[in-house]
Amino acid sequence: MITRKWNVHNVDNLTGHQDIVEAAMWIKDGEVVAFPTETVYGLGANACSNEAIEKIFEAKGRPSDNPLIVHISSREQLPLAASDWNEIAEKLMDAFWPGPLTIVLPKSKYIAEKTTAGLDTVGVRMPDHPVALALIELAGTPLAAPSANRSGKPSPTNAEHVFYDLNGRIKGIIDGGATGVGLESTVVEASGGKVTILRPGGITKSQLETVVENVELDRALLEENLVPKSPGMKYTHYAPNAPLYLINGDRTFFQDKINQYQNDGQTVGILVSDELAGQLTADEVRMVGPSDQIEKVAQQLYNQLRSFDDSSVGVILAEMYPVEGIGEALMNRLLKAAGNKVLSKNRQE
Ligand code: AMP
Ligand code: MG
Repeated sequence: MITRKWNVHNVDNLTGHQDIVEAAMWIKDGEVVAFPTETVYGLGANACSNEAIEKIFEAKGRPSDNPLIVHISSREQLPLAASDWNEIAEKLMDAFWPGPLTIVLPKSKYIAEKTTAGLDTVGVRMPDHPVALALIELAGTPLAAPSANRSGKPSPTNAEHVFYDLNGRIKGIIDGGATGVGLESTVVEASGGKVTILRPGGITKSQLETVVENVELDRALLEENLVPKSPGMKYTHYAPNAPLYLINGDRTFFQDKINQYQNDGQTVGILVSDELAGQLTADEVRMVGPSDQIEKVAQQLYNQLRSFDDSSVGVILAEMYPVEGIGEALMNRLLKAAGNKVLSKNRQE
């Protein structure tokens, strides 16, 4: 398959633009097209067609028991995706849509079984990106769209990442530049008078608390032996090729670990804030931004993780960040990328 590339940087009338019209036509035709959202690039197909959805799972190599998020462009489209929603869900939509919040709702009869991996619920969100909204509107159907990467790899935050992973496997890629948030949406359930966070993401717990009193984390996110309510949370995700370890300790401990791996003959890459980069010596240094600007770090995470795959590092050591605000999602992704491998000063010495 030849993968088309459409470039829609700085385009005004998006719904009238021939590239987006063409991409929407492919979607109507049951094909798969990658597009930018405010979180990461998505891999979109008609959420109401089992045949189209199968192509997403195939292109990504995604396990078929991991449901896809359904994207809508207007509140009028909501009944096509969900059969029912309560007052709390409605409050969340009013406050955070369009935006990086996915709400799990009872599925409508129109959504294909493969989209929800057989579940009777569906995750729905309205992305806050003009290109995504124009594409969904022109396609005239909700789009199921997971992140546009090969399963297990870091999510794509620009069109080049998508091309690297999926060239030849999908019909086309709409290039709308780098994404803003850089991490995926927050997935929530709104039932029993409260909101439960199934996956931390672009909307933080404290943002949710400005709208709903009772917000809690799915306990499975905190306790390893519980089965998560969000099926995708049980898989290895976001991982670069080389093994990744998180470093829980001070600058001296970090440098000691670098030296140890180097003495063992390894080429060592480090993933650190701008401040720490200046204080450490390693073979490959990737900076994710100032440590007091955690949004910037989140935005750069996947891009810098991916860049190690083009280097010869044998091991990657990464800095940890406070679990506050978007730091909650950032640390969730870093721990997953590392397969929960943390080197702690207190435990080791
Ligand atoms: P991705 O498409 O890679 O961003 O992953 C979507 C995330 O949303 C995964 O963790 C899914 O398990 C989760 N998700 C999607 N639909 C549902 C649903 N109906 N119930 C619970 N979690 C869901
Ligand atoms: Mg993904």
